[in-house]
Amino acid sequence: MMSLVHRILAGDPRALAQAATLIENRSDESTALLQGLFAYSGRALLIGFTGAPGVGKSTLVTQAARLARKDGHSVGIIAVDPTSPYSGGALLGDRIRMMEHQVDSGVFIRSMASRGSLGGLAAAAADVALLLDAAGREIILIETVGTGQGETAISYLADVTVVVITPGFGDDVQALKAGMLEIADVFALNKADRPGTDSFERELKAGSSRVHRQDGWAPPVIRTIATEGFGVEDLWSHIHAFHEVGRNTTRRVNAWASRLAEMLRERVLRDFPRCELYRAAQEIVEHRRDPYTVVEEWLERVRACHCPGQS
Ligand code: GDP
Repeated sequence: MMSLVHRILAGDPRALAQAATLIENRSDESTALLQGLFAYSGRALLIGFTGAPGVGKSTLVTQAARLARKDGHSVGIIAVDPTSPYSGGALLGDRIRMMEHQVDSGVFIRSMASRGSLGGLAAAAADVALLLDAAGREIILIETVGTGQGETAISYLADVTVVVITPGFGDDVQALKAGMLEIADVFALNKADRPGTDSFERELKAGSSRVHRQDGWAPPVIRTIATEGFGVEDLWSHIHAFHEVGRNTTRRVNAWASRLAEMLRERVLRDFPRCELYRAAQEIVEHRRDPYTVVEEWLERVRACHCPGQS
């Protein structure tokens, strides 16, 4: 395990791929690995790109990776698809392969697909981001397919969340309904070469201005044509502008609070005997026991076994 950590810290791409697989599989070794890596993390800038399939996320992420490389930064890309049960599934896999041809070896790309809960996937993606961060990747781009539900689980991963939307095709409804307005720090109004861009932008700005943000930031709307690179530098500078206003400490504290809650849930359930869950469920269905007491009793047992000295 130590040699793997050393190889990761040295930036060996094969070690990175191997470690990402351990993390994705939630193997026992991954805990020790992440314990070893944590001290080296915390330096990268994590930028999330989220939006419905086809809005141009991959194209934009590829452009962003180019700009980061131009600035001399090493880059990690994590493509997360909660709608596909297969890692490297057909669509995502094809796009990743396309991206690999368009960017250089200073860019490490990893795709991750749904495993169980969205929260679980977000936690695994967050750990892969930590891995890349520890390995010295300075800019980490996290592309996630918007599902229209639970976007916040994914958005807490990033220091800056870019919501990608396009005019037309009922996107107005999608943008307003899917909680996208709430999570955006910057909007990329992509496919701005399409008709309807002006009216959509007005609608978007009106919707966004109704969102109350505790930090007082007004998310800018940046027009882009990702395929041509139009607006991408402007988008990039607004991403950095948001980051530089220094709101990330509170944000990271909130993010870790969410991550800890998810880790606790995952960890408790990992060792919890499934048969015990089913036995209790059976008793609840038969009304022999009530679920509230069952959970309280389980918690009592956890307390008793970890803190024997306490009353
Ligand atoms: P993703 O599913 O959100 O990652 O979207 P992709 O990046 O794969 O893009 C989906 C399709 O839209 C591809 O055929 C792109 O070439 C195309 N596309 C991306 N950006 C633009 C744009 O700004 N204008 C136009 N007209 N097409 C675009």
